[in-house]
Amino acid sequence: MDTRILAPTKENILLCAEALRRGELVAFPTETVYGLGANALDARAAEKIYAAKGRPSDNPLIVHVASLDDAKTVAEKLPPSALSLAAKFMPGPLTLVLKKKDVVPDTVTGGLDTVAVRIPANNVALALFKAAGVPVCAPSANVSGSPSPTTARHVYEDLKGKIPYILDGGACKIGIESTVVDVTGDKPRLLRPGGLEKEKIERAAGTLLLPEDTSKPLCPGMKYKHYAPKAEVYFSAYYSGMSGGICLWYDRLAERGIKTVILCLTPNAEKYGRRNVIRVGDGYDSYAHNLFADLRMADEKGYGAVIAEGVPDEGIGSSLINRLIKSSGGKII
Ligand code: AMP
Ligand code: MG
Repeated sequence: MDTRILAPTKENILLCAEALRRGELVAFPTETVYGLGANALDARAAEKIYAAKGRPSDNPLIVHVASLDDAKTVAEKLPPSALSLAAKFMPGPLTLVLKKKDVVPDTVTGGLDTVAVRIPANNVALALFKAAGVPVCAPSANVSGSPSPTTARHVYEDLKGKIPYILDGGACKIGIESTVVDVTGDKPRLLRPGGLEKEKIERAAGTLLLPEDTSKPLCPGMKYKHYAPKAEVYFSAYYSGMSGGICLWYDRLAERGIKTVILCLTPNAEKYGRRNVIRVGDGYDSYAHNLFADLRMADEKGYGAVIAEGVPDEGIGSSLINRLIKSSGGKII
């Protein structure tokens, strides 16, 4: 199959909307990461997503819609907490888990009786959904387990030959996935930290519950290997002498002949002397924005190991920690 990267013109958006209606796959930009979309009401179309990505079939997809009205086609009556969070944060990097309607096939929800719903803050994505006239289920548009794609080129590298169309909307603004909140219970529960800071949600909705039993993943995707480049990733804890600890670890890897690079904030780069660094930007938002692209870059440059600087466990930092723990397979130094 030929994979075409398309500029997001009106014509191309219509072409992709037609493809979605026919049951084909389309990769599209959002403000978080690129999504790999299919008609969410068509089980056969959704199955193609799992095949293209090599995704385990019990890892449910997020259903993307253009408006709250459209959310009502896939979800039962929205509880008050959902309406108030939606009013504040949608469109945006927030996914709400709701009771599903029967029209949503089990393939999309991994057999759960709930459905995850999101309205992305990206005009190309919204125009695509409106033109398609169907809800669009989509996980990130990468090969399962690899770093999520934040440009059309990343999608192409992972899925060329496996999908017909990629709509190119440029680099994603946020760079890590949405925050997933379950609003089916008495109180909202955080299932996955992400692009919308937990503190912002808590200011609007009160303290969020956390998963009660961590041995049973409520957000099923979280149990799988995730976000990992080919290089071994080590993730530093955040403390005042962190750069010294990272240097020691780097030198140990280098002595073993492993080509190593440090992901660091730009202002910290000088602390690493002549060691290889990739600068992730001036602050934690740009760290989040660049993380997946930089992990991919480390592979392209042939590094065997990446040591990522730690960050404080607050705001977007908490979401970064979540992704880095998974990228590193828990190898924390
Ligand atoms: P991805 O966009 O690739 O990160 O995949 C979607 C994420 O949303 C996965 O981690 C899923 O586990 C999560 N998700 C989707 N539907 C549900 C649901 N009904 N309940 C809980 N989590 C969900
Ligand atoms: Mg993903």
